[in-house]
Amino acid sequence: MSELRYDPLQRRWVIIASERQRRPDDFINPYKVTSSPEKCPFCYGNEDKTPPEIYAVRRDNSSPDTPGWRVRVTKNKYPALSLGDEEHNLQPYGVYGRSEGLGTHEVIIEGPDHELGMADFPEDLTIDILKTYRKRLVELRNDERLKYILIFKNHGSIAGASLFHPHSQIIATPIIPRTVQIELLATRGFYGERRNCLICEMIKQEQDEKVRTIYDDGTIIAFNTYASRFPFELFIAPIKHQAYFHKENNTTLEKLALCLGNVLKRLKKALDDPPFNYILHTSPNKEAGPAYPGFWNTLDDDFHWHIEIIPRLVKTAGFEWGSGLHINPMLPEKAAEFLRETEI
Ligand SMILES: [Zn+2]
Ligand SMILES: [Zn+2]
Repeated sequence: MSELRYDPLQRRWVIIASERQRRPDDFINPYKVTSSPEKCPFCYGNEDKTPPEIYAVRRDNSSPDTPGWRVRVTKNKYPALSLGDEEHNLQPYGVYGRSEGLGTHEVIIEGPDHELGMADFPEDLTIDILKTYRKRLVELRNDERLKYILIFKNHGSIAGASLFHPHSQIIATPIIPRTVQIELLATRGFYGERRNCLICEMIKQEQDEKVRTIYDDGTIIAFNTYASRFPFELFIAPIKHQAYFHKENNTTLEKLALCLGNVLKRLKKALDDPPFNYILHTSPNKEAGPAYPGFWNTLDDDFHWHIEIIPRLVKTAGFEWGSGLHINPMLPEKAAEFLRETEI
């Protein structure tokens, strides 16, 4: 018999279909990608093929827009949103709503090595990348027109990566995106009822049950989500409550780098470098207006930043689009066991 599982954070049910149960190794990556470093705008020497540098980590004294960087941030060449001097002007349009496409779209180029993915990054490079996330979050939060800053990564063309060279992206928006909004309302509602953080409670339950946990070093935990929509869906969070990624100290970011290395290596080895999306959910910018007075009063206590990793190994079909109800053919506990047993 299959099972319906509820995800309190996304307020969403999923079907864990044991009837369609498949073995973990049925999901070994069928989508291999190839690369061509000569034409890559993210490789050393091609700095003039991207928009000018916004920020970079450099260990030497090399100047902006030349080689020598370890992590480099530029505007996206084809930005989804852009930012001028205009005010954010959200207006009704009949029964609809509209606004200018105000926001930012940046690319974080993750090291000069064209071939290496985050699973194989040296630890200090991942730390520099995480510190760059923090830096950009702090900077972009100064703009009160930007309500939400989403950092994400597409790995593999099936997951949406148009360039092979490892990179993350940042899209900041004048509205709070739907998926984040649902989490914010869910955690706020939970806090209102129980005076506790929903994600802290999820972590406690995962630590008690242990069956879905892949990694737990006392600072950072990674587990397969109880109500995973997709096989091998992962959730990574700090064990100690913190609503804002940009408020984490260096020690926590160093521990997070270790966790990401560990978990991504397992995923890569177990499933032959599968395509995936990874998403950082941190708190929205409270200072950004307009907001209902008092709406964010408990945000610091009720929200808890986290990273979601979604391997892209199954297709989303009519039933999922039509119902929002996903059918997952892989038991999350079995996925976790498979990842835990993978030698790295
Ligand atoms: Zn490259
Ligand atoms: Zn919490």
